[in-house]
Amino acid sequence: MLHTDFHTHTTFCDGKSTPREMVEAAYRMGMTDLGVSGHADFSMFEPGFGMDDEKLRQYTEELQELREEYRGKMNLYIGIELDGLGPVQKAEYAIGSTHALIKDGGYVCVDDTEEKLVKAVETLWHGDWYAFAREYFEAEAQIYDRTKCDFIGHFDLLTKFNEGYKHFDETKDAYLEPAITAMHKLAALGIPFEINTGAMSRSSVKRAVCLRRTYPHQLRQPQCRHDRIWV
Ligand SMILES: [Zn+2]
Repeated sequence: MLHTDFHTHTTFCDGKSTPREMVEAAYRMGMTDLGVSGHADFSMFEPGFGMDDEKLRQYTEELQELREEYRGKMNLYIGIELDGLGPVQKAEYAIGSTHALIKDGGYVCVDDTEEKLVKAVETLWHGDWYAFAREYFEAEAQIYDRTKCDFIGHFDLLTKFNEGYKHFDETKDAYLEPAITAMHKLAALGIPFEINTGAMSRSSVKRAVCLRRTYPHQLRQPQCRHDRIWV
């Protein structure tokens, strides 16, 4: 089985390790392939966040050097994580993700802090989490059109702060219907989905299982890896 990870971050964006540390760690773990997917430039919404073109150039250069160093030991791929609201910068592969929405002219990040998200849903969606979820999935449905990504990152990122379904019930039609509509649209384009279980410390594993149960007809047999399940 291919032992790999294609959704990783480094100190070039919000990761904690340098590219070299990531590559060394992946190699030690026995990975055959590693994809690094730094966040694209998002400074228009969050000053300083993501890689502008110059940073992307340095990132690419550093990873190319590491690729040469590891040639024959581990394959290294130079990717980028694009957001539907941000610029479409180029790399060897692209992840398409929805991290934020524009609502009534305002910017709402869905995975920053729970406090901020709760406040945004209260003020901008009048406390209606299902209305918020509908808009999230409407944006998500556009992610390929906007980014021409190779696969979809964390399709249900909006559930990040919803452990125990404390804000909305992920089994309700009001949540599932727009999610399935978005999934159908993206699946029809043949785009693979990543089920991101990076937040293993909480309920992500259950969530991944739940998602499989919820949409079995859309999902192919997943491949499990050290921290993520791919479909
Ligand atoms: Zn992301």
